[in-house]
Amino acid sequence: MTSFGELALRPELQHVLDALGYEEPTPIQSESIPPLLGGRDVVGQAATGTGKTAAFALPLLQRLEAGGAAPQALVLVPTRELAIQVAEAIHRYGRELGARVLAVYGGQPITRQIRALEHGVDVVVATPGRAIDHITRRTVDFGQLRTVVLDEADEMLDMGFAEDIEAIMEAVPAERQTVLFSATLPKRIDGLVRRYLTDPVRVLIRTEQSTDDTARVRQVAYLVPRQHKANALGRLLDIESATAAVVFCRTREEVDSLGEALAARGYRADALHGGMTQDQRDRVMTKVRNRTTEVLVATDVAARGLDIDHLTHVVNYDLPNAPDSYVHRIGRVGRAGREGTAITLVEPRQHRLLKSIEKATRNKISVETLPTVADLRARRLELTRSALAETLREADREDAHEQYRVVVDTLTDDYDLMEVALAAVKLAHEAGQGDPDDDVADIPQVRPSADGDQDRVAPHGGGGGGKSRPRSGPTTTIFVSLGHAAKVRPQDLVGAIANETSLSGRQIGAIEITHKFSTVEIPTDAEAEVIAALQATMIKGRKARVERYKPPAERGYKPKRGRP
Ligand code: AMP
Repeated sequence: MTSFGELALRPELQHVLDALGYEEPTPIQSESIPPLLGGRDVVGQAATGTGKTAAFALPLLQRLEAGGAAPQALVLVPTRELAIQVAEAIHRYGRELGARVLAVYGGQPITRQIRALEHGVDVVVATPGRAIDHITRRTVDFGQLRTVVLDEADEMLDMGFAEDIEAIMEAVPAERQTVLFSATLPKRIDGLVRRYLTDPVRVLIRTEQSTDDTARVRQVAYLVPRQHKANALGRLLDIESATAAVVFCRTREEVDSLGEALAARGYRADALHGGMTQDQRDRVMTKVRNRTTEVLVATDVAARGLDIDHLTHVVNYDLPNAPDSYVHRIGRVGRAGREGTAITLVEPRQHRLLKSIEKATRNKISVETLPTVADLRARRLELTRSALAETLREADREDAHEQYRVVVDTLTDDYDLMEVALAAVKLAHEAGQGDPDDDVADIPQVRPSADGDQDRVAPHGGGGGGKSRPRSGPTTTIFVSLGHAAKVRPQDLVGAIANETSLSGRQIGAIEITHKFSTVEIPTDAEAEVIAALQATMIKGRKARVERYKPPAERGYKPKRGRP
């Protein structure tokens, strides 16, 4: 199956897919949807990011009679975040059918869920523990279920939900369709499959692709929460000085909105997707070929067969949904012996898909820390410096700057030459580079943990990052007497330290900002230097008191009795 059209989905579903800008099914979808529509059980190997939600949601919506007295589908997921995310996705796909979808998870008042269930729900997306609660309280009737989905089954087992799943499966009709998706298929999953699925179709997405072409491509990935991806992309394009990049997105909608966002930030960016006329596409391709376009934002389908020989960067703005498609995408750089860079933005939850792509393609993709504001500043200053150096070299050759001598001569009556030079550099810098503060918002640094599955967000925003920071060396926390009240942001502290001391942004550790003050973790041997420098400088236009941070206990604070 290569197009959604061939599936003969109900018009309400097809219409939503068109509106979302899905151009073609992902591999897991083309393998799973036809058997599911045919009523078969399916067990599929699929991680978050492969399009697995639509793979089970579209078939269950296809057979849904919305507005019934009891739920017709139950989706079990391991975590509350996933419950919310999956419920939102099913709601989106089923919106024209009027499907009523409810996420049911621990941590939310059960009474609210009971009221919603009484109101009428067609699809329940639940964590196992809360599903059991509702079954025991008889606040849900699973007697009419037609479909049960076990999503991220391996994770549910890892989290100790085996017994809960068993109890739930006892309580649902024997006559039902069962779907199981799991990122990995260890033996324990086999046990579930044998007990609860009937003669299932097995869907494994394998890669046959040779990866020789990609050997010369530098492959890096960054973990970035969804809402920060556009900012992160801008920062990376700047740091990398990308002159010809293709940025891949999954949907037409995303291509359009990212193309506009990049253009608004001053990139020469164009969009390419299957919803455009041939004429429009030809025009874009001409601009790409004659190098008018720096950044082409495209869907996989639109970029098929695209051959741009001066391409320097491929960016996976969205992780491709299967290893094959990763190889196809990045094969566009590094052709004919040239070198190129492939950058992949990974949302924290998709870390597993990245691992499986790495494994399937036998490529090493190094997960790096996003450049900080300080890195970006340094890079932009370097660009200004080299532009000035180039101009100075021209002056040597052509005496071309004589006409400006009068300006410098008159200014040096009142200012010294260094001050004049600094002002001129500032003007040149701002004209050429802009102020990074304009387009750099806080981007939390997310680092993969040792097991690679759970990710954590570092306590500060635009600050230094993990990998190259000497985490092993001793660190000291310093206290700065300005906080949220003075509108201080992490990047202000990182910027001040990186500008005024010998530390780079990457050597700066955790930053905490409270209403009245902030704390910054730095290498112990830089303590005196950082304190002196910050005391001498202004932060957000204000002088701060800076000293070594003393935790409350050292300050004579006595915890109240009864508190740990
Ligand atoms: P999932 O693996 O279900 O978490 O889906 C990952 C992302 O892929 C979601 O943002 C979906 O909206 C998107 N997606 C799913 N199917 C398609 C498709 N056929 N074409 C483009 N995007 C898709």
